[in-house]
Amino acid sequence: MVSACLLGIACRYDGSGAQSREILSFMGSCFFIPVCPEIMGGLPTPRDPAEIYGGRVKTIRGIDVTDNYERGALQVLNLSLLYGCRRALLKERSPSCGAGMIYDGSFSGRLVPGEGITAGLLRRNGMKVIGESSVKELHRWILGG
Ligand code: SF4
Repeated sequence: MVSACLLGIACRYDGSGAQSREILSFMGSCFFIPVCPEIMGGLPTPRDPAEIYGGRVKTIRGIDVTDNYERGALQVLNLSLLYGCRRALLKERSPSCGAGMIYDGSFSGRLVPGEGITAGLLRRNGMKVIGESSVKELHRWILGG
């Protein structure tokens, strides 16, 4: 499973993608299932940026979009179960896909330890989740490690 924006799909909040050439180089050896939990949770593109604070996801205008984020995470989990997917390569720092570090909720660019709503749900359901800076782990995964 992979964050769709990492393949170049223009689904980020600002209407851009975040294509990674390194990830694309694995297209011939991996079966990627692209997902965008924010779109799958019913949000439009472009959309206001959002961050997690106190367990809730709020946009920069203060609108609580936690329900959208949770709905999208559930859809991604359902898809992963349908495909028997066990591993996820997700976009870092996102309030949905981020694993390890996320923005602190102040919209100031500060990072804190934490994970996005989808990354957390997948991890709690037994999936191995990594961010794009650990893409080299894909080699190990492909080799069955
Ligand atoms: Fe990319 Fe995930 Fe954000 Fe969608 S929700 S744009 S896949 S980081």
